[in-house]
Amino acid sequence: MKRVALLGATGSIGRQALEIIEAYPELELVAAASGSQPIDGLAPLTQVGGDLTELLERAAPDVVLNAVVGFAGLPATLWTLERGVDLALANKESLVAGGDLAVSAWKGRGGRILPVDSEHSAAFQLLEGRPPDVVHSLVLTASGGPFRGRTRAELGVVTPSEALAHPTWNMGPKITVDSATLMNKGLELIEAHFLFGLDYDRIEVVIHPTSIVHALVRFRDGASLAHVGYPDMRVPISFALTYPERAATPIEPLEFGSGLILEFALPDEQAFPCLGLARAAGEAGGTAPCVLNAANEVAVGAFLDEQLPFLGISDVVERTLSSVDSPPAQDLDELVAVDAEARRTASALMRELVH
Ligand code: NAD
Ligand code: MG
Repeated sequence: MKRVALLGATGSIGRQALEIIEAYPELELVAAASGSQPIDGLAPLTQVGGDLTELLERAAPDVVLNAVVGFAGLPATLWTLERGVDLALANKESLVAGGDLAVSAWKGRGGRILPVDSEHSAAFQLLEGRPPDVVHSLVLTASGGPFRGRTRAELGVVTPSEALAHPTWNMGPKITVDSATLMNKGLELIEAHFLFGLDYDRIEVVIHPTSIVHALVRFRDGASLAHVGYPDMRVPISFALTYPERAATPIEPLEFGSGLILEFALPDEQAFPCLGLARAAGEAGGTAPCVLNAANEVAVGAFLDEQLPFLGISDVVERTLSSVDSPPAQDLDELVAVDAEARRTASALMRELVH
């Protein structure tokens, strides 16, 4: 039996995880948490809001599935890694904002990070733990979101409901907007850097509209491997929770008989500047990725509330990055302070932009 703690149980990932846990007798849900929705009776231990590490402390899980959205997931990520417990990680923001702290908490303590983000689950399977120097580059695929092919001028008028209509994935609102701006792929670049120890110049992004290829690894010997399958998050969730078993799921493997065609193109970084902003923040290091993430969370929230136009998201992120200092953080308290400062700055810049 594997004791599972599920954080973010009411979300898109959380609900799909419940389905996987229910179907696999060797997974025992011992604790569940949500941000605000009631979850009484879902697990022996439940918690709504508050400090998730208190719940984890009581639950003593074998694996923590962190499917909280945003920076709020960071303390649970650090708690899990510090104790050498396996971390099934959907909450990419915790690794983006707290990558340095997370990596030092992770190394040498014996716990694994089992990525749930589909591209990173794919890369994890392709890399099989090989060291970075055998890799020519890791290629992350992006669907391009609902606005693929649009010009910057056309993006000026798009609405939250248009941004929320994702062509291939059905996800929570924040990541769906991130997919529309390509910030999601930017966050994933930084996530991949910390997960696999690859320098940024060895992580590429390509647009692949049907989301059949989840990632490719181009090795130094000339071989490239791809991970392919229908876009369904239950596959990486199941892989992470049942690792290394690769348990059965109800999802059909890919069908080739009907003439499968795979298309790839380079992203339009002029129309979608968030990708470049994330790459630059990752390369700058220190707490720049934390500042990027905080500004993005504030801007996406405002866009969803119709307080900021779509193109304002990248503007707010860019201006916040150039206004806030981003020296390395020594601990979680310092990082929380940087995050808060970036949020205040982003909110103030947003008021200037809108008025
Ligand atoms: P969602 O908005 O559907 O769900 C978020 C969950 O987090 C909810 O259960 C909510 O109650 C909980 N939550 C929010 N704030 C909280 C807080 N302060 N404390 C405790 N719980 C809190 O989001 P989602 O789409 O399921 O995404 C969750 C995470 O997984 C995100 O980091 C996202 O980037 C990542 N992810 C999601 C998908 C997907 O297909 N949905 C794919 C890859 C990665
Ligand atoms: Mg992804």
